[in-house]
Amino acid sequence: MQNNSALMDLSIVIPTCNEEGNIVPMYERLLAVMNEIQLAKFEFIFVDDGSSDHSLIRIQELRAKDSRVKFIQLSRNFGHQNALKAGLDHAQGAAVISMDADLQHPPELIPTLYDKWKAGFEVVYTIRKDDQKVPLLKKWTSRGFYRLTNKLAEIPMEEGTADFRLLDRKVVDALQKYTESHLFLRGIIPSLGFKQIGIPYTPHARVSGKTKYSFSKMLNFALTGITSSSAKPLYFSIYTGLFFALLAFLYGLYAIYVAAFTSEAITGWTSIIASILFIGGIQLIMIGILGIYLGKLFIQSKNRPLYLITEKELD
Ligand code: UDP
Ligand code: MG
Repeated sequence: MQNNSALMDLSIVIPTCNEEGNIVPMYERLLAVMNEIQLAKFEFIFVDDGSSDHSLIRIQELRAKDSRVKFIQLSRNFGHQNALKAGLDHAQGAAVISMDADLQHPPELIPTLYDKWKAGFEVVYTIRKDDQKVPLLKKWTSRGFYRLTNKLAEIPMEEGTADFRLLDRKVVDALQKYTESHLFLRGIIPSLGFKQIGIPYTPHARVSGKTKYSFSKMLNFALTGITSSSAKPLYFSIYTGLFFALLAFLYGLYAIYVAAFTSEAITGWTSIIASILFIGGIQLIMIGILGIYLGKLFIQSKNRPLYLITEKELD
């Protein structure tokens, strides 16, 4: 699969947001791995996604010593996915690996990814095998997310896949055609085709700093993921509507029967208030689902860039 026209053998793309304590350890471990696989030309591209700490300074200090360290500084925080896209758009390698800056994605797995690429695979993704170190809530929410997305999306995503993967140059070029807002690479990559293979690994604990994904951010990410890969939620309202219309029809028959053939006084306040609230809630959820898609159309129709660059040093 070696593409001789590419400038680099391998690019490592690392979206970075407030990771000042992880950059030097990350660099050292990456370097050790690179020595092991003995590549002539490689590059580490840190994409500084609007860090407010000294991440960029740490990166620049490394660059002063080693020009294989490169960086792109985004003009503000654009989010992990867009930072990743910025890195992929600027990587020059015949193969490109993306990974997190916090060392949860072990650099020691890189030789395995690289070997699979050498063996002819064009997408080598990783499958996280959770161990005790992952908080239970994160484990459950993540599992629920993959199950739900896979039920709804046309192209299934394997559980535990994250943005730690190797892409062949052909795949990186193909991704350039994807300029959609609300990028969700995890959902896009399985749908691309090409020769794909998954490698299991056990994630490590974060070396320093804390996760940027709060619960609400993860919920947001999950909604983005589901609504990016599928239009099926839009059909919910039809089925729920049909179901409740049927219930209402049957109950209506019953009410007519009671009014016409019995002398019972109907004391219906509780049932009326309960059903109004219930149906009202369902309607709001359905409007919300419509709203998500409408919002995406609105953002997409503006066709704004996914990221803006303040400064880049890539040679
Ligand atoms: N990240 C980023 N921009 C953001 C949030 C995160 O570039 O707005 C980077 C972060 O520095 C890390 C990676 O994306 O390298 C994954 O983030 P994090 O470790 O916080 O997520 P988690 O591993 O907890 O899901
Ligand atoms: Mg992390």
